[in-house]
Amino acid sequence: MRAVVTGGAGFIGSHLCERLIHESHDVVCVDNFVTSEPGNVEHLTDDPHFQLVRRDITQGLDVPGDVDAVFHLASPASPADYLRLPLETLRVGSAGTWRALDLAAAKGARFLLASTSESYGDPLVHPQPESYWGHVNPVGPRSVYDEAKRFGEALTMAYRRHYGVDAKIVRIFNTFGPRMRADDGRAIPTFIDQALRGEPITVTGDGSQTRSLCYVDDLVDGLLRMLASDHGGPVNLGNPHEVTMLELAQWINKLTRATSEITLIPRPQDDPERRRPDITMAREVLGWEPVTPVEHGLCDTITDFRRRLTSVNFTERR
Ligand code: NAD
Repeated sequence: MRAVVTGGAGFIGSHLCERLIHESHDVVCVDNFVTSEPGNVEHLTDDPHFQLVRRDITQGLDVPGDVDAVFHLASPASPADYLRLPLETLRVGSAGTWRALDLAAAKGARFLLASTSESYGDPLVHPQPESYWGHVNPVGPRSVYDEAKRFGEALTMAYRRHYGVDAKIVRIFNTFGPRMRADDGRAIPTFIDQALRGEPITVTGDGSQTRSLCYVDDLVDGLLRMLASDHGGPVNLGNPHEVTMLELAQWINKLTRATSEITLIPRPQDDPERRRPDITMAREVLGWEPVTPVEHGLCDTITDFRRRLTSVNFTERR
């Protein structure tokens, strides 16, 4: 298979590219590095089956030769990133998705949209099945991401219905693992970075809000199964096990062997209270569910953060 991965140098994209190369596929990784750096895929650049293209996908993309699959992952993804890049987020979710779908249509390729649990907004139904239409504030600060993804979903379904493109949607819930950016504002990288630096761990609100945490290797497995299936989705991919933010902070304190104090700070606007996927459909249609224990995933992520922190200190010392 020859696959185009937009946002391929990002956190999830780099793991997807790695897995595709490992399975002997050809990969064209397209990224403008607005929220990532080329270092994430540096270890793949010597592979003759891997091609890195620096490009803003909203400008369109011409890929000579055959393409069998387009994975569309390009988008700022963490609240800190999309609040800092509101118009870029709306543009890549709309025009970027349009261009990526055009590429798939022109090449007769399968298409996979990386949508999000944020499509459900601050949900009133728990856990969230795919049939739930969501509870989104269309004009709040987070709407630039939520509504861009909802538009991207509508566009994907229109290409599927109208042009017969084999287009699919997955709704990804919180995913974590090595190569997350320490400053991306999400709970796991923030807590690990604070713990490793011996700083207080800052939990928002009273820490009782929950998230479900899926390890990136499991998520990538779900993306590949979805691409191979005949189902259009949307299909939820995430870990149905909920963890409160306070529990997560205590867990990370223990696993890093830090003794950081836990401090409560104000919650951001429209921050969802609970998030938990109903993955019945993923189990039935894809035979998929997360298999990596969260604790194992956290240990791998902590090792990666420790290594990067040490190499930064090392470089600074030199
Ligand atoms: P990330 O920020 O690490 O990766 C996104 C990548 O897209 C970056 O490399 C960025 O430079 C690139 N990009 C952004 N705009 C672009 C553009 N116009 N042209 C080309 N490249 C562009 O984020 P991630 O966590 O790896 O998320 C990947 C995808 O998965 C996103 O679409 C996100 O919405 C979705 N998702 C992620 C999570 C999660 O928990 N990480 C949850 C739900 C959905």
